[in-house]
Amino acid sequence: EVILEVKGLNKVYKSAQGETTALSNVSFKTHRREFVCVIGPSGCGKSTLIRILAGLESYSGGQVLLDGKPVTGPGRDRGMVFQGYTLFPWLTVRKNVMFGLEMNGMSSEEARREADLWLELVGLERFASAYPHQLSGGMKQRVAIARALVNQPRILLMDEPFGALDAQTRCKMQAHLLDIWRNVDVTILFITHDLDEAILLADRILVLKANPGEVQELIEVPVPRP
Ligand code: ADP
Ligand code: ADP
Repeated sequence: EVILEVKGLNKVYKSAQGETTALSNVSFKTHRREFVCVIGPSGCGKSTLIRILAGLESYSGGQVLLDGKPVTGPGRDRGMVFQGYTLFPWLTVRKNVMFGLEMNGMSSEEARREADLWLELVGLERFASAYPHQLSGGMKQRVAIARALVNQPRILLMDEPFGALDAQTRCKMQAHLLDIWRNVDVTILFITHDLDEAILLADRILVLKANPGEVQELIEVPVPRP
C-alpha cells in the first residue's frame, strides 16, 4: 500500500540574490509501515523535502500525494519531529501531548487518557506532570515523538531528530524509535546525514545527490533487517 508518492518534485528558492534549485525532479514512493531514511550531503535539499512533505513549504513543480491526495498544507495526517525540542516550555509533558488533541476538539478528559497512553508507549508516564526543562534531551525527544504520534498520522516526518544528542543517548533513542515503530501502524520518513544511523534504522535508504542544476539523482538502497 503506497502512503506517500512524490513525482517529479521541483523546488526553486527565489530571492534578490537569484535562484537556488533545492530539489530537481525528485521521485519516490513510501509504503505502509515502511521505515525510509533519506541521506545526502549538506545542501542537497533534505530539509526542503521534509518541509514540503509537512506542508510548511510550497513547491515549484511536480506532485506530492499522501494517500493519493495532493498535499497543500500542514495536516493531522502527518506528524513532525525536528532536531530542536519544539515542546511548549510552559506546559507539562502531558499537556504538551494533549495540545493537538484538544485543538481538534477532543474533550480534556479523553485527551488526557489518550496522551497518557502515548506517554506510556515512550516510557515517560511517570513524567506526565513534569515540565520540559526538567527532562534530559533524549526524554524531550520522546515527548516530541509522543506528541507527533498522538493524532495517529499516516506518516511520521523526522528531520535529524537525534542530531543534537550525545552518542550514547542517540544510540538509546534509535533503539527506542525502532521499538515504537514496531508497535504503531505508521510509516516513518527519517532524514539524517549519518549513514550508520540510516543503515541501522531503515528498510530502504534514499540517497539524495547534491544538485548542480540538473536532474537530481536519487538512489534507492534496500537494507535487510537483522
Ligand atoms: P539540506 O537539508 O540537505 O542541507 P536544504 O534543503 O537545507 O538542504 O537546502 C537545499 C538548498 O536550498 C541549499 O542550496 C540551500 O542553500 C537552499 N535553501 C534552503 N532554504 C532556503 C531558503 N529559505 N531560501 C533560499 N535558499 C534556501
Ligand atoms: P535519555 O537517554 O532519554 O536522555 P537517560 O536514560 O540518559 O535519558 O537519563 C537521563 C536522566 O533521566 C537520568 O538521571 C535518568 O535516571 C533519568 N531517567 C530517564 N528515563 C527515566 C525513566 N523512565 N524513569 C526514571 N528516570 C529516568
